[in-house]
Amino acid sequence: MKLKLFLLLLIGLNCTVFAQKPEQLISKNDVERIIKTLSADDMQGRATFTPGIEKAARFIENEYKNIELLPLSGNTDYRQNFSMFRVTPAVTLVSVNNTILPAENVMAISGAASFNWGNDPDVEIVKIGAEKNFINEYRTLISSNKKTLVLVDPHFEALFKRLAARNQRGSISKEANPNQQLVFVLGDFSEVKAYAVKYTGKVEKLPLFNIAGMIPGKSKKEEYVVFSGHYDHLGIIKPVEGDSIANGADDDASGTTAVIELAKYYKKLNNNERTLIFVAFTAEEIGEFGSAYFATQIDPEKTIAMFNIEMIGKTSKFGPNTAFITGFERSDFGTILQKNLEGTSFKFYPDPYPQQNLFYRSDNASLAKVGVPAHTISTDQIDTDKLYHTVKDELSSLDVNNITATIRAIELSSRSIVSGKDTPKRIPKLEE
Ligand SMILES: [Zn+2]
Repeated sequence: MKLKLFLLLLIGLNCTVFAQKPEQLISKNDVERIIKTLSADDMQGRATFTPGIEKAARFIENEYKNIELLPLSGNTDYRQNFSMFRVTPAVTLVSVNNTILPAENVMAISGAASFNWGNDPDVEIVKIGAEKNFINEYRTLISSNKKTLVLVDPHFEALFKRLAARNQRGSISKEANPNQQLVFVLGDFSEVKAYAVKYTGKVEKLPLFNIAGMIPGKSKKEEYVVFSGHYDHLGIIKPVEGDSIANGADDDASGTTAVIELAKYYKKLNNNERTLIFVAFTAEEIGEFGSAYFATQIDPEKTIAMFNIEMIGKTSKFGPNTAFITGFERSDFGTILQKNLEGTSFKFYPDPYPQQNLFYRSDNASLAKVGVPAHTISTDQIDTDKLYHTVKDELSSLDVNNITATIRAIELSSRSIVSGKDTPKRIPKLEE
């Protein structure tokens, strides 16, 4: 009797962690604590390159440390550092046929700190007439590194002014090439007899970083499963009713919270056969630069799947206890997750907004492009969400139960991929 009881007790103890249901390993209070911290006003909207995002980064690093995640191989801490260039045009003076053009009719794109032209023979003059496709011509020109004066027909005024306004705020890119010198001018120029250009701009090399940690696999160490969300947001934007902080509670403090909770969950389970990577991406909002860099640092062939999580704070179109998966038809990732949730109250659906092109609008795209079954899980009703990218994307507008339920569903549904039992089909690489 005694021995039997002892054995039962022993088995019971051993099994407690494994037998625990996700609802016992993750608490709504903890979810609320994390998202509240990340979306608080003192994070200043977590814009890339600001003190606000640094504060968010330190918080996430501290969570990773408490969970006891390891830095990625080759790293000494959780920061995956890289840098980008920010180019902000300062002054562009252009005269054509001895007449100085109004500033709003001029747009310069250059990686140089300054340049001056005066009827240079090496400057090419290109005309974009009303019959051409301005945006296509524009794209071709900005991918070249030539000295070009571009005469844009007044027919394109509205688009020209939108592009110019955006350009004036500065642009972020991987390289700042001083040989790229493009000056667009709006106007009706039948003949250019003389011109002069004086340009100065600010070129800055700025540091940024993802925050990544891992739990090495027990047996399949060289097979990676990635869980991700982006920790950056828009920062300070145009005030509405005295509030100018875009808190980004749903976008994407909710996804970042999920990443931290998933790390906590799998660390407690301690039975992952594959290596798990947990990453909070920077600079999603300004061009998915964080995930693009991450994709260059990981071997895509060894990356089995990516669970990217974006905006899970509000009930989905399909009702409570549901979420959708972008790019559902591109692999069998979604059907594996659905199968793993059979018999539970939660259900995953294919993305109901294919016209929104969501598959290419989040960080999963950076890995999908190189063939990884990389999908985004979301509950946002993006077609009618009035809070999206506004100062009103605050925790008070979210349902923490929805976030908690979605995280639990991701936990349960990812287990067969984490254990090595299921391997989703690859996505065809994007031809560029
Ligand atoms: Zn987002």
